[in-house]
This record gives sequence, structure tokens and C-alpha cells, in this order.
Amino acid sequence: MKYFGAHVSAAGGVENAPLNARRIGAGAFALFTKNQRQWVAPALTAAQIEAFRANCEAGGYRPFQILPHDSYLINLGNPDDQAILKSQAAFTDEMKRCEALGLDRLNFHPGSSLGAISDEECLDRIAASIDRALAETKGVTAVIENTAGQGSNLGWRFEHLAHIIEKVADKSRVGVCIDTCHAYSAGYDLSSEEACERTFAEFDRVVGFGYLRGMHLNDDLKAFGSRVDRHAPLGEGTLGWPVFRFIARDRRFDDMPLILETPDESRWPEEIAQLYTLAEGHEVSL
Ligand SMILES: [Zn+2]
Ligand SMILES: [Zn+2]
Repeated sequence: MKYFGAHVSAAGGVENAPLNARRIGAGAFALFTKNQRQWVAPALTAAQIEAFRANCEAGGYRPFQILPHDSYLINLGNPDDQAILKSQAAFTDEMKRCEALGLDRLNFHPGSSLGAISDEECLDRIAASIDRALAETKGVTAVIENTAGQGSNLGWRFEHLAHIIEKVADKSRVGVCIDTCHAYSAGYDLSSEEACERTFAEFDRVVGFGYLRGMHLNDDLKAFGSRVDRHAPLGEGTLGWPVFRFIARDRRFDDMPLILETPDESRWPEEIAQLYTLAEGHEVSL
């Protein structure tokens, strides 16, 4: 079964995210469990946790339909031995917040070499950071997102994701999330059904669908291979509808959160409805 949703607001408390998701007709959602632009956040209260779980239950959201995202400040591959400690502590705290909420995965951008170390060293540091967080938590999978490859950000090649997974000790608690906009900007063609077949076959060969724990469904404002991360509403970017139709109809994307991070929130109800229409085998009126 397909579960489409969006990265909804958790303003006022995490317990509001499932309510916001329900309001837009989402079958899945993403959220930040703390302010994503600050390093430290107050701990979740027992009342918040209780309300979050109750609102998820009322909305029919089980953990596999929910994809929390970590703070943008965290760099698990930071080349500086002191600076990386701050990122590792913040990431472990985010994993613990997910654990407290009864969630089973945490989505994050792998990290950046800041041009100071080799890609391979940076990927090794990211894997070591993941190992630390997994050792201090239970039941939450670390979900690495592919990136557009801006600047010195790693994770834009499927080989980067595979390298990290290879180095992580507990492979049962590491996974990946593929963002369609990032993949296209990074040079993976998804602009036609045939291109999607080829790119996802390559993904399966290099990483493996067994590691896929979610998708970000975004059209791309920039050109193929631009290495720039700018999302566009579905059907209005350089990707167009083929990739979203492909994902909606391919069983390999069943039973995981399929999340919009498209720029115009007011269009989410329509975009979600269009994705469900495609999944049912119908065409969307454009
Ligand atoms: Zn994304
Ligand atoms: Zn992005």
C-alpha cells in the first residue's frame, strides 16, 4: 500500500504534527521533533509524548508511516575532532527523542567534508557517528538521505550511501531515503519511465531496495546534474510527472513514508490527492 504525505509543521509541539497531517489528507508525514535551527532543545514532556501517540493513533499513523528529520546544523562527518562531538551529541539526542515518541526511523543528511578531508575519510566519520548513536538508542533506524551534492556535501552518489552502510556495524538499523530532486540534481536521470527504471536499477545494485525506508517526492527547480538543491511543486520543475507516476505504481515503494517537501504548502492537499490518483492507476488532470 502507498502512504503519501508531507513534511508538516510541529509548531506549538510535536503533538500537532499528526493533526496537521490529517488536515491535508496525508497517509504519512515528516516532522522535526525540535527546532531544526537550534542545537539544544528542551526534553519532550510526558504529556507531549502521550498526546503525540494519541493523535497518531487517532489519525491512523503507525511508525512506518512517519519520517522524522533531524536538525540542519548537524554534520556527522565534520572533519574537526571537537566540532564533530557537538553534532554526534545532538544526533544521539534526536534519536532518543524518536525513541521516546515510539518512532522507528530518523532521516538525516549524511554530512560534509568542508573541503578539509577526503570524501572517504568523511564517509568513515559519518559511519562512526551513526555507530555511536545506535549504541546509545534502541529501535530507531538511522536513515541516510541522498543529497544534491552542493558544495562539499556528501551522499549525492549512491556509492556514498553504500560506503556508509558498509562501515556501520548494525546493518539492521541503517537505511536510506531517496529524494527525487536531489537525485536528479546529482545527475541521476528520472525524467522518463525508462530513465526511472535505469536509475532505480542502479540504486538497487549499488545500495539495495532492502535499505529503503522512505522517499522525498520533490520536483526540481534546477537543471539535471546542477548539483543544486531547489525543490519545485510536482509537475512544475525539470522532472515533471513521470517519476512520481513511476513511484506511485511501483510496489518497491509500498509501506514506507513518501513525503512531499515541495515549496507551496497550500498545494499539499492537491499534490497528495494527485499521487493517490496515480497509485490507483488513473491519470491526473494537469
Ligand atoms: Zn529531502
Ligand atoms: Zn532538498
